[in-house]
Amino acid sequence: MNLTEHFTLEELIASQTAARHGFDNTPGAQEVASLTRLCEQILEPARLALGPLHISSGYRAPNVNAAVGGSKSSAHMKGFAADVIPLQVSKRDFALWVIRNCEFDQVIFEFGSFPDHPSWIHVSAEPRNRKEVLRTVKGGGYAPVNL
Ligand SMILES: [Zn+2]
Repeated sequence: MNLTEHFTLEELIASQTAARHGFDNTPGAQEVASLTRLCEQILEPARLALGPLHISSGYRAPNVNAAVGGSKSSAHMKGFAADVIPLQVSKRDFALWVIRNCEFDQVIFEFGSFPDHPSWIHVSAEPRNRKEVLRTVKGGGYAPVNL
């Protein structure tokens, strides 16, 4: 089922962790609506501008989120967030494009090294759209960044 032209519900709920543990990672109607907004607001415009994007994690049921060590209040559990690895541009350039062109709640440079080689970019779309730009900090937590 396509949420937008280039994104399917299946790729936004796929989870190796859920498969490994036998967890059901099926979202409810509200989470599907939120995933659709995420695609419309961030993922599809970025895909059209920057080429294909790999979604390493989108929706996570609460037990899936716990199994991957996600934050207890993770936006992934509400269908607000996706972790993205762009295939044709750098992760930094993807993040900068979203920051400059999209309404968003958070863009987070996750792990790896900041700013050029994060492991992935977390993006989220919420009703509040705070436009926070953060990076993960060694040892835990997040810090605001200026680019
Ligand atoms: Zn994430």
